[in-house]
Amino acid sequence: MTSFSDIVSRIQVWHVALPVKSPRDHGSGLVSGSVEVVVLRLETIDGGYGWGEASPWSVFTGTAEAAMAALARYLAPVVLGRPIGDVAAIMTDADRALVGHPEAKAALETALLDCMGRTASLPIWALLGGRARSSIPLSVSLADPDFSADVDLLGQLRRDGIGIVKLKTGTKGHDFDIMRLERLQIDFTDLDVRVDYNQGMQPFEALRRLRDIEAFSVTFIEQPVPGDDRAAMAELTTALDTPILADESVFGPRQAVEAVEAQICDCISVKIMKCGGMRRGMEVAAIAEAAGMPAYGGDMFETGIAHLAGTHMIAAAPNISLGCEFYQARYYLEDDLLAKPFPIDNGEVIVPDGPGLGRDVDMSKVKEYAIDYREISAES
Ligand code: MG
Repeated sequence: MTSFSDIVSRIQVWHVALPVKSPRDHGSGLVSGSVEVVVLRLETIDGGYGWGEASPWSVFTGTAEAAMAALARYLAPVVLGRPIGDVAAIMTDADRALVGHPEAKAALETALLDCMGRTASLPIWALLGGRARSSIPLSVSLADPDFSADVDLLGQLRRDGIGIVKLKTGTKGHDFDIMRLERLQIDFTDLDVRVDYNQGMQPFEALRRLRDIEAFSVTFIEQPVPGDDRAAMAELTTALDTPILADESVFGPRQAVEAVEAQICDCISVKIMKCGGMRRGMEVAAIAEAAGMPAYGGDMFETGIAHLAGTHMIAAAPNISLGCEFYQARYYLEDDLLAKPFPIDNGEVIVPDGPGLGRDVDMSKVKEYAIDYREISAES
């Protein structure tokens, strides 16, 4: 019989490389071939277990190699021998033991909450305070350098009931962006379109180009200029009618406070991989809410495990009201690590009701795609 006093006795960490269906150009980096993530499984003395995922991106938050080392060398000693119910204390100690590495910390927190949820027969959203919504509108990002491939994908998305797309802009020139927006406006009239520059513009050119973009009535413009150029973000937020969404400018709660104070945006993208877990993500969402800004459920290049963690956070965070982008497991990866498909129905992510993450991980797939493995026990 497991309980919240059950002691973490073993952690296993896999560096996994998953093949992808097509290349994607996200401005700050081109992804092709495979996506690399780190999968964590922790186990308790009485047989409890939980899964988590670190999904780094080298041009944004970090690397899979660093996440692997963070978990196996620096965070394992923090969690081994501790009761699974001590999540808040363990995560505070994790921040003391290791600077940065938010993806590894997100994996650790996810695995602990998954284990707690399985122990209590409660979904993670219940542990986070209860449900604000039972489904989340899904946005799929269009980022293929070959736009005709995206148009084919859009046909499939529409048949699947997807109503939101995010166009990755600023990668192949302004004319390419305008051409694609015109095409979407003509051929897909009732689509909710957002654009994301991934910091792709220099401030000197940004305002004129974004005035062109504004003519298409997009829902928001995400991170047009470099994340640390807060003055340029603030100027664009003032100058434009279209809401500006901060992504690379806001990782955790402290930057969210700074973003509110300096008015650098109209809304904030919350990602567990930027801030280090679901509880921190809810803090960012709460800061945004207090400032009258809605939040958006962003992600990195993730498998269904990290998508599920994000889903539980958004389920419990009323202010993350602009939808989510947990599409990779279904539409981008050749194969996922979940035993049953990540739950999407008619354009919405369905919040699972089962214990913990609400889905099991297929261990044989984790092993099949693993390129590195570490295992650490309490006694070793
Ligand atoms: Mg973004």
